[in-house]
Amino acid sequence: MEKMEFKTEVKQLLDLMIHSLYTNKEIFLRELLSNASDAIDKARYESLTNSDILEGNEEWKIKIIPDKEAKTLTIRDNGIGMTKEDIIRELGTIAHSGTKEFLKALKEKEVRDNPELIGQFGVGFYSSFMVADKVTVISRKGGTKGGTKWESAADETFTVEEVEKEHRGTDVIVHLKEDEHKYLESWEIRNIIRKYSDYIEHPIVMDVEKTGENNTKTIEEETLNSQKAIWLKSKSDITDSE
Ligand code: ADP
Repeated sequence: MEKMEFKTEVKQLLDLMIHSLYTNKEIFLRELLSNASDAIDKARYESLTNSDILEGNEEWKIKIIPDKEAKTLTIRDNGIGMTKEDIIRELGTIAHSGTKEFLKALKEKEVRDNPELIGQFGVGFYSSFMVADKVTVISRKGGTKGGTKWESAADETFTVEEVEKEHRGTDVIVHLKEDEHKYLESWEIRNIIRKYSDYIEHPIVMDVEKTGENNTKTIEEETLNSQKAIWLKSKSDITDSE
């Protein structure tokens, strides 16, 4: 396992993310789902010229896995995935171009009052630290061997290590803070998706328990988003907030 230090701007970003943002924390889920969807788009695009990355799996899907015992919320995608180098670069050692602007807007209170703007700055992944005391990312790029585990408790450092990962893509495991366990509740997850991520083109699924005849319980994978852009929906299906 290697321990590495975040770039200075990323440290500042994390510090402010954790200590200055108190409202609309729910948008972390929108940001992680948007990254998952982007990763699937990238896989789909790259597969046009390199079908090896598909590994025979083209059933694009984003899965949300709440674990009430472990107090974790996992966002799993079968998108492009990241190599070890990708992870180190993308999640900590470079600051995205929007980072500086974001820090400035945060200091000027613009983002503090409107955290929903986070996505515009290209720092969405880090918004998970508004609700998490630790985030683990396990990823494997399609068509390559060996996965990588990235982990950080936002303490100025992160670790990376090589791990096995069967399926292509990325798992983002959000270890929820003590007072943020509501994000494990399926109604809360459904609400957030309906509010912000309904239009995502790929299915966002979750296992739900269904009670059938004779009280038999079965687990079924349910798709939570309509996958329709708002302008394609019928007027009667559009809510006020949309
Ligand atoms: P943005 O998505 O706006 O570029 P983020 O901070 O949300 O900014 O993410 C940083 C980068 O990390 C992304 O550009 C992408 O390269 C990588 N990344 C994040 N999540 C995933 C994922 N689920 N699959 C593959 N790559 C990802």
